[in-house]
Amino acid sequence: MKQFKTESKKLLDLMINSIYTNREIFLRELVSNASDAIDKLSFMALTDPSIQLGTDQLAIRLAFDKDARTITVSDNGIGMTEEELDRNLGTIAHSGSEAFKEANAEHQGEDIDIIGQFGVGFYSSFMVAQRVRVVSRAYGSDQAFAWESDGVRGYTVTPALPGERDGENDHGTDVTLYLRESGPDDEDGPDKYLSEWGLRDLVRRYSNYVRHPIQMMVTKSRELPKPDDAGDDYVPQYESYQELETLNSMTPIWKKRSSEVEQDDYDEFYTSTFHDWEAPARTISFHAEGSLSYDALLFIPSRAPFDLYSKDYEKGLALYSSNVLIQEKCAELVPDHYNFVRGVVDSPDVTLNISRETLQHNSQLRAIARRVERKIHDELLSMRDDDREAYEKFFENFGRGLKFGIYNSYGAAAGDLAELLLFWSAREGKMVTLAEYVRSMAEGQKAIYYAAGDSRERLEKTPVVKSALAHGYDVLLCTQDVDEFMFQVMRTYHDEGMAGDSEHAGTDPRDLELTNVSTADLDFATEEEKAAAEKAGEEHASVFDAVREALGDKVVAVRASARAGEAPACISTEGPVSLEMERILAEGPEGERAPEARRVLELNAGHPVFAKLTAVQEAGDSEKLALYASLLYDQALLVEGLPVDDPVTFAKNVCSLM
Ligand code: ADP
Repeated sequence: MKQFKTESKKLLDLMINSIYTNREIFLRELVSNASDAIDKLSFMALTDPSIQLGTDQLAIRLAFDKDARTITVSDNGIGMTEEELDRNLGTIAHSGSEAFKEANAEHQGEDIDIIGQFGVGFYSSFMVAQRVRVVSRAYGSDQAFAWESDGVRGYTVTPALPGERDGENDHGTDVTLYLRESGPDDEDGPDKYLSEWGLRDLVRRYSNYVRHPIQMMVTKSRELPKPDDAGDDYVPQYESYQELETLNSMTPIWKKRSSEVEQDDYDEFYTSTFHDWEAPARTISFHAEGSLSYDALLFIPSRAPFDLYSKDYEKGLALYSSNVLIQEKCAELVPDHYNFVRGVVDSPDVTLNISRETLQHNSQLRAIARRVERKIHDELLSMRDDDREAYEKFFENFGRGLKFGIYNSYGAAAGDLAELLLFWSAREGKMVTLAEYVRSMAEGQKAIYYAAGDSRERLEKTPVVKSALAHGYDVLLCTQDVDEFMFQVMRTYHDEGMAGDSEHAGTDPRDLELTNVSTADLDFATEEEKAAAEKAGEEHASVFDAVREALGDKVVAVRASARAGEAPACISTEGPVSLEMERILAEGPEGERAPEARRVLELNAGHPVFAKLTAVQEAGDSEKLALYASLLYDQALLVEGLPVDDPVTFAKNVCSLM
């Protein structure tokens, strides 16, 4: 007997020993594997003309035996070789179980039922079965093999017994579950699946839209012909007979008009197909007819998959053509910035030249992709306008990807994506769109102001933000690494103006610059404040020079500030690299070699500290002046949320002052 891998063991253990509320998903998982196996064989037949399939015979069969307490799910799909049985069923290694492990780690100790929320696939059988036997014969092979396990200790793989898939062309797989006993008052026990209605009910609820027929021999009853000599008191006679019935509707859900489908059905399709346990935030269904016809069903998830921002994440929609799955994740169908969208596109017109390269250059595919993108965009806009709360949640999950979309396209995607962005408004204390920001701009304001840093609370307290707010300018507080990089490639935001808006009528469309509030050449100051700063600058030129000298190459300039407010000093920057970008870049692959911000120390000439500086300068005490300069610089950095260059010196300086 071979042992399960440790992680598989843990998972199996969890599965078998917890109280499951959702164990009935086992059938859906097995049916879905069977359906995949049929898909794989059909796909192979497409690419290999030597494979002749009676496609109308491809089917999934269900059977049960009440006495033996077994349920069998069979398919005549691609089957598995001996090695495949070992590899595929010997480890729980597919993505669903990875997700399971993560969430399980997250929810340790919490009393929630996570089993069944994931596509734990084949192993979910052990939720209802004490033993599982899989007999499989790979297409083209003449020998079937059997995998068997009690789901606890390990499993065996042996040649199949006589009578097990040994007929001519008997490719495919039978999964037989030996059900556990139901406890005496275990109403929810597996017994109910040992019945026609039990299985029928599971199929209808979980697998109705599987494209391949799910068939079962069912017992029916029919009236016997009335004998010719029947008298007046004849009572109709019935006989029961067996008939193979297809239990599922088979019409793929994406082919149906949305008016014919309940949201519950969409949700069930989504959760089971894409292994998510939350219903989607939005469902988009659309159809095209004509020279290029297709059906598409898209979902915007309610939460980000755990690996969305990892490099292993694969975007893409499932692509079907005439009922054959061509590609599970066709990346060409969705742009990167909508990589979180899940769904299906089915088109008989996509030329099936099969190789990935041809798909890439396929003009039909591109046409579909354009429409897909438009549809997602419109859906997001309507969500933004009709259900702001849901949209904010969406944005929290996926906003970063939209921003990367703008950044990665060097701003080209901004035309479409900018209107989908939300930022925290310092003045409003809530998320706003850029258009909303513009709508409430102060008279004469010509740019959109933002501040970037790692926390909203800190940004709110920085002198520059306070000063901007005091001057009537709102500031967008940005805390994601990508924000500033995105603003830099966008440079401007195109505002459509407000024609038709009676309150703001007359505003023409215009481009507004996106400006970091801590750039040095930015001034919110009034003319008086500016004049005062200029005067101070001239009057005390020697003080500024001395401070500049004392700080050496830490700064590129020292100036009188017209905006420092209550603070004695603040740091601003010149040029394209801000302090926040400097920090992010330094964490990147360039590390210490990354470009640095050109820092400017702005001194508040109206502050009592400045009077001290002037006095020290006049007294000719250059040592003290250097000490003050260094302290002012360091504390301005601290206020910005940045580390001081040399904490030891800073501490020493503070002490010597005391
Ligand atoms: P998943 O289906 O999510 O990959 P499972 O644990 O359900 O995970 O199945 C593991 C693998 O076993 C599948 O990926 C597939 O290769 C193989 N498999 C399972 N059931 C069948 C089947 N009925 N026919 C052929 N292969 C199967």
